[in-house]
Amino acid sequence: MGPGLKVEEAPTEPLDLGQGHTLKLFAFKSLTPDEIVGGWWEHDDPDLHLRCTGLIYFDVAATGHVDKEKYLVKSWEPLTMGKRIQCCHCLTAGHIKEGLWRPYGGRHE
Ligand SMILES: [Zn+2]
Repeated sequence: MGPGLKVEEAPTEPLDLGQGHTLKLFAFKSLTPDEIVGGWWEHDDPDLHLRCTGLIYFDVAATGHVDKEKYLVKSWEPLTMGKRIQCCHCLTAGHIKEGLWRPYGGRHE
């Protein structure tokens, strides 16, 4: 992330994706407030019973300079992501489809 770009929570309630997953949208402070560039993903760690948080960058024009994996947004309302996301802490994986969490694979199905 370049200098002068500060992450700021978007003025919306976190999206409740179900199954304990939420996504709090965020924007870059130096851009228009409505330009959503990603989300804070929160969920329960299935083993440690802690709350995991992770940052997901959306594949939009404003994140072009961000040197992180980015995720295509196929639909904003309801939110549908173009590919699977995986937590780097607890390895929980799944899709966000039509505003809901869809677990991927194994024991989380
Ligand atoms: Zn996790």
